[in-house]
Amino acid sequence: MPAEERVIERAVILSTGDELTSGLTVDTNSNWLADKLFENGIDLVAVITVGDDAERIRWAFESALDRADLVISTGGLGPTADDLTTEVLAATLGREIVFDEASAQHMRALFRSIGRDMPQNNLRQANFPAGAVILANPLGTAPGYRVEVDWKGRRRFVVVLPGVPREMKPMTENEVLPWLRGLDATGQVYLSRSFQTFGASESALDEMMGRAVAPEEGRLSFRAAFPQISVRVTVHGRPHEAEAALARLSERVRERIGDYVFGEGAATMEGVVNQLLRQRRWKLAIAESCTGGLVAERLTNVPGSSQVFAGGLVAYTPQTKQATLGVRAETLERHGAVSDEVAREMAAGARRACDADVAVSVTGVAGPDGGTAENPVGTVYVGFACDGALVSRRYKLWGTRDWIRLLASQIALDWVRRHALGRPPQESLLIRR
Ligand code: AMP
Ligand code: MG
Repeated sequence: MPAEERVIERAVILSTGDELTSGLTVDTNSNWLADKLFENGIDLVAVITVGDDAERIRWAFESALDRADLVISTGGLGPTADDLTTEVLAATLGREIVFDEASAQHMRALFRSIGRDMPQNNLRQANFPAGAVILANPLGTAPGYRVEVDWKGRRRFVVVLPGVPREMKPMTENEVLPWLRGLDATGQVYLSRSFQTFGASESALDEMMGRAVAPEEGRLSFRAAFPQISVRVTVHGRPHEAEAALARLSERVRERIGDYVFGEGAATMEGVVNQLLRQRRWKLAIAESCTGGLVAERLTNVPGSSQVFAGGLVAYTPQTKQATLGVRAETLERHGAVSDEVAREMAAGARRACDADVAVSVTGVAGPDGGTAENPVGTVYVGFACDGALVSRRYKLWGTRDWIRLLASQIALDWVRRHALGRPPQESLLIRR
């Protein structure tokens, strides 16, 4: 696709607010917007964060306009004196500030609807640089806007959005992205699909993918959000062709790394497990030691978990393992609480106690203390019980206490998932003996 046909190729994201530069608030807006720009094939030149300071905001706008066709700004649209975005932008562009009566009416109505008088300073939010196209904010008082400018002889666009994420996101989805796609007169679209994986490292996945996707066919990108790694394929072209290309490349991804893929898009491991248990009409029981309830916590984060979750027991001491899960004293004595045998008895006990179809158990050493020569920190046993089978595996995990616990919970959930699909448990993290 010839570059000159695209109106917007490059963008800069500008985040404003003292809360960001002081480290009080994490800049989630930029990260979310960067993802949207990527999905639309726009090259993000930079993310600039500045405090509520007129001179610095102006510097940021000028630098951004020098380098990018599109500047997306969030923050600094509030009613208070420290919110400066509109004033500074108007001054930077050499535009007047105009007052928009319709926006003021919307604000007054919003305050009336909650039975409050509107403070006068809210009217600042009805000020816009001349020529701005106003973007409605159904969820708050500050509307956003976009303005097209001639910057040193080049066509540029500035989009100004409120800082509050729950207002910024729908405004972007409803107003900004459709406009952005409409600007692209080439008729080309960008489509992408993400695969959520577990069990293989980023570099291992990269190796497995090899040269399966040629640069001219599409883009493959990896993102690690411990303990899962997502792989995204992005293609562009005319709608029908892009859809076909995406299907073709997705097929190739599945062929190469399918065994590690547990879901697509925003899928979570616990969400997928919930769905599979529901389809099978199975109830799951959980017995946990070193994860302290994390597996159950994750599973019950999913709405509707009561249909698939029978119950969980956190049995920390050997006595509790005996009393609540029926682990035998002799087993504990002979093999120790961190062992295959105890993991299996925990799973069997939880299945029995909760009258469940399947049960999974976790016992291990999360550290930093408690490791032994035989079971160093990071050793985790996962047990699994179902009708006709009682099995366990030993895993060697790594990292800090919270990583080990999270990874162990992921393995336990993944085991349930794989069993529901009739597949053997994850091998890659196993200790082979
Ligand atoms: P503002 O539009 O500057 O009044 O921002 C309102 C609120 O939105 C701030 O107090 C923050 O809590 C939040 N906020 C602003 N910018 C960001 C950002 N980049 N990421 C996440 N939250 C933000
Ligand atoms: Mg602010």
